[in-house]
Amino acid sequence: MPPVEPDPTRLVAVIGGTRGLGRAIAGELTAPGFDVVVTHRTDEPADMASVHCDVTDEESVDAAFTAIESRGRSPEIVVVNAGIAHRDLTMRMPTSTFTEVVDTNLRGAFFVARRALPAMVRARRGSIVFISSVSALTGTPGVAAYAASKAGLIGLARTMATEVGSRGVRVNVVAPGLLDNAAGIAPGTDEWIAATPARRVGTVAECAAVVRFIAVEASGITGAVIPVDGGYAMGIT
Ligand code: NDP
Repeated sequence: MPPVEPDPTRLVAVIGGTRGLGRAIAGELTAPGFDVVVTHRTDEPADMASVHCDVTDEESVDAAFTAIESRGRSPEIVVVNAGIAHRDLTMRMPTSTFTEVVDTNLRGAFFVARRALPAMVRARRGSIVFISSVSALTGTPGVAAYAASKAGLIGLARTMATEVGSRGVRVNVVAPGLLDNAAGIAPGTDEWIAATPARRVGTVAECAAVVRFIAVEASGITGAVIPVDGGYAMGIT
């Protein structure tokens, strides 16, 4: 009998993977057969393979992918986790705040996806997951720029899904509710919990497990918005 060839190693890129949810996602994806690289914008982690990337700068995104590709292949799985939020009522929100949030969360995700896709299409294999938020769909006071950017990810993902689905590339969105790393920092945590059927915030670990399933295993799912919110936004996600 011929020897069984092992599956080739699958290269994974977690964009914004040094802390919080991104770090948990990188940990969840780290397994035999997977080569996980994260990106950092500020501090380079000592315990993970990481390349620098500022998603607001398309040259930085290109350089990050080139550095990742020096590992001998292009990323087959890309999780776009990098994101920021600033709080201000819409009528008081400076243009600079709106621009910074949308540039990071939406325009940055576009830069990443556009850079990642050609190799996936050539390989006829790939999976992109955008990390959105239930705020994209429910509305949350004080986060207009954030919610707009996170809603934009859904349109971006679904359009991409239609464009590359026939090439074996899946594009999905995970929409967390409030997670434990932000609970207590974000105002209104108690109200959020009271409005959540599960009566608790989620954990980054349980969200990362869903991201892994969608990114790696869910071969029949594309163009989907997967809530990880304890039921907070049920019926509208
Ligand atoms: P953190 O603030 O802990 O981490 C944000 C990550 O994004 C960091 O790795 C940071 O890198 C990176 N990042 C920020 N700006 C840039 C940039 N310009 N270029 C590259 N990387 C950047 O966030 P969380 O872990 O809490 O959240 C992760 C994602 O999940 C975000 O997209 C967030 O909107 C979303 N989300 C989180 C929820 C929560 O309750 N935690 C709820 C719903 C959605 P660095 O450390 O180098 O600055």
